[in-house]
Amino acid sequence: MTLLFNVMPVAIHGNGAAAEIELEYTSVEDGRVRGTGETMRLAAEQVYKAIGQSLVGQPEEVELEGGKIMVDATGRTSVAMVWAGGDCASGGEDLTVTAVAEGRDAAMDIHTSLMG
Ligand SMILES: Cc1cc2nc3c(=O)[nH]c(=O)nc-3n(C[C@H](O)[C@H](O)[C@H](O)COP(=O)(O)OP(=O)(O)OC[C@H]3O[C@@H](n4cnc5c(N)ncnc54)[C@H](O)[C@@H]3O)c2cc1C
Repeated sequence: MTLLFNVMPVAIHGNGAAAEIELEYTSVEDGRVRGTGETMRLAAEQVYKAIGQSLVGQPEEVELEGGKIMVDATGRTSVAMVWAGGDCASGGEDLTVTAVAEGRDAAMDIHTSLMG
């Protein structure tokens, strides 16, 4: 197995079926991943796609930060009594362990809020 880092797929080439995938090298500028313009091609009989998701259509009163729901350290959003955590929330890394920890922190704060 070959692992490639700092590349992103930009095209699939083939005549009716995948034969090659074209990848563009990336670099990080101002905290964002950007293509360098330099590409490479790899032979590929099959290509599996892992997609990302973005937040659209959220209620106006939900404030965003960097395209994610803005939360404080306890997961509170800009809307009273609404908490968020995990990949959809601003702040931590997009990892399972982070999502679980943020769920725990929010649950503790929700409990405190409800108990007064
Ligand atoms: C390919 C890949 C590999 C990864 N590998 C790792 C790894 O090795 N280690 C690691 O720690 N993390 C890894 N992650 C990241 C990890 O999967 C996420 O950080 C984690 O799943 C975030 O949990 P979450 O509960 O915030 O979101 P999710 O797990 O995405 O859960 C959100 C849920 O909400 C549901 N949903 C969405 N919209 C609605 C709606 N409108 N109404 C109702 N339900 C809705 C979705 O169907 C989904 O079930 C990986 C992610 C990907 C994509």
